[in-house]
Amino acid sequence: MSLTINIPDTSKKRIVIVGCGFAGLSFAKELSKSDFQVVIIDKNNFHQFQPLFYQVATAGLEPRDITFPIRKIFQNFNDYFIRIADVTKVNSEINQIETSLGNLYYDYLVLANGADTSFFGMHNIQKHAKPMKNVYESVGLLWDILQNMEDALTSDVVEELMNIVVVGGGPTGVEISGALAEMKKFVFPKDYPEIDCSKINIYLIEASTKLLGSMSEKSSAKAKNFLERMGVNVLTSTAVKDYDGHLVSLGDGKIIKSKTLIWAAGIQGNIISGINANNFTRSNRILVDKFNNVKNYQNIFALGDIACMNTEIYPNGHPQVAQVAIQQAKNLASNLRKNTWKEFKYKDLGSMATIGRNKAVVDLKYIHFDGFIAWLVWMLIHLRSIFGVKNKILIFINWVWSYLTYDQSLRLLFKPFKK
Ligand SMILES: Cc1cc2nc3c(=O)[nH]c(=O)nc-3n(C[C@H](O)[C@H](O)[C@H](O)COP(=O)(O)OP(=O)(O)OC[C@H]3O[C@@H](n4cnc5c(N)ncnc54)[C@H](O)[C@@H]3O)c2cc1C
Repeated sequence: MSLTINIPDTSKKRIVIVGCGFAGLSFAKELSKSDFQVVIIDKNNFHQFQPLFYQVATAGLEPRDITFPIRKIFQNFNDYFIRIADVTKVNSEINQIETSLGNLYYDYLVLANGADTSFFGMHNIQKHAKPMKNVYESVGLLWDILQNMEDALTSDVVEELMNIVVVGGGPTGVEISGALAEMKKFVFPKDYPEIDCSKINIYLIEASTKLLGSMSEKSSAKAKNFLERMGVNVLTSTAVKDYDGHLVSLGDGKIIKSKTLIWAAGIQGNIISGINANNFTRSNRILVDKFNNVKNYQNIFALGDIACMNTEIYPNGHPQVAQVAIQQAKNLASNLRKNTWKEFKYKDLGSMATIGRNKAVVDLKYIHFDGFIAWLVWMLIHLRSIFGVKNKILIFINWVWSYLTYDQSLRLLFKPFKK
């Protein structure tokens, strides 16, 4: 069988979008009333809601709750074509991309292919740590956490199985540490009455001096306080130097025995070859101008996590968060549609992180608050942002159920069946 990408040539100009994450999806939707032929290419046939990966990894939500089929989103869009393929190279001299389904001509190319985990060149950690940068990795992490508990019933290396080390004190590290602490308190003692669950230790390790580095001092201190009250060992100003799958070596010489090291410490852009190496930053982001145009390429643009727009307020590029991706996508779509070119200006709507039941921190422009109200705000904003009415309802039901019962219902160890 030979494959071809099979997109019809028409008189319309063709925009090819690589990636249907927050940026690619918003950009494609904004073009609905344009005169372009729109081609969306993603490796997966679904859009993923990354902010809730940690809930999949801790049995709070199912993968299907936080993913949405791309084809369903664009069912009623005219002249939209979707292909599930890996884009591997850009040949800008002939306006073509290479994909796993063959080559495709573009009039405009929009790179919205996001980022992946960065291990900062530490190969041992890369080999043994568990990242959480896609829904598959989140499911894999849940599997490891549950399997370790099963093994702890019968193994003689219980300490290693019961220590969980989370590296990176940003929102992801904070949120998963809090969720694990709640599993330790409310779930594992009921599921595993034979295990002394007080011996489960959760460590959150952060190299800088504080958690939630991009948030206010107040929120950062409050998050630490919440986590410590929940029994998490928070180690700031501590770097992880090495990990062999059993022993975590810290910068101060200490060693922690652990079979599970969750890596939430850094990301780097997903590289597609063909773009000049001078256009990349050290973390593989693509340098763009104030219109998201890739420098020295007239008809290639980059959006979201992969793009790096240096501005006065953000000299090292904007934060790699969903709002930046969405706002850049809307601005670029409007510029291309109207053919009037407005510079991108990021409107920071604030930031937040949840630590656990009734515990969250929220930073808005002029106020910072925490606790129950912050937790409600966090839930409402996430429910509002998730794609699809059914997904919203399923997540809402799961959250209410967990809140009332102190339980999650999704602790399933699905494994490939071997006869
Ligand atoms: C665990 C976690 C928690 C987060 N929490 C928050 C949060 O609470 N708030 C917040 O604002 N942000 C959060 N973020 C960050 C946020 O998710 C990203 O900033 C956002 O997803 C960036 O959008 P994007 O469209 O640039 O990239 P992505 O959403 O990563 O989308 C990239 C898309 O490109 C596709 N792709 C990649 N390479 C190729 C290729 N070669 N060929 C074809 N397709 C390709 C991928 O499959 C993917 O669909 C979190 C991220 C993670 C990982």
